[in-house]
Amino acid sequence: MEHDGINSEQAAECSVCGLHYTQEDCGGGGCPRCDEDDNETDEQLRDKWLAEFQVEAHAKFTAGIEEHNPDGTKGIGRMTVEQLAREMKNEAVDQYFYACALERAIAIRAGK
Ligand SMILES: [Zn+2]
Repeated sequence: MEHDGINSEQAAECSVCGLHYTQEDCGGGGCPRCDEDDNETDEQLRDKWLAEFQVEAHAKFTAGIEEHNPDGTKGIGRMTVEQLAREMKNEAVDQYFYACALERAIAIRAGK
């Protein structure tokens, strides 16, 4: 019985954490280390990530309101187009360096 390239003779590599595991290790389920099912469909991933986004985005945006607009006199709806463009560029810079750090961590984990 084959499950995403895993069978009794050959180890599979978890697409999430990179662990090599055998069918015996996982009992036919997902990765035993990270407990992720790397056979989730795109629709399952979409729904899971959208649900996470709703929770996390609400919390982050609310924290931003409390930090930057506690008395309701400022806020994203009052920012100028120049301020919005500047903040989008700042976020893009942060994202780039987060991606670099993630790439580095993946390489370190892989022993490269
Ligand atoms: Zn894993």
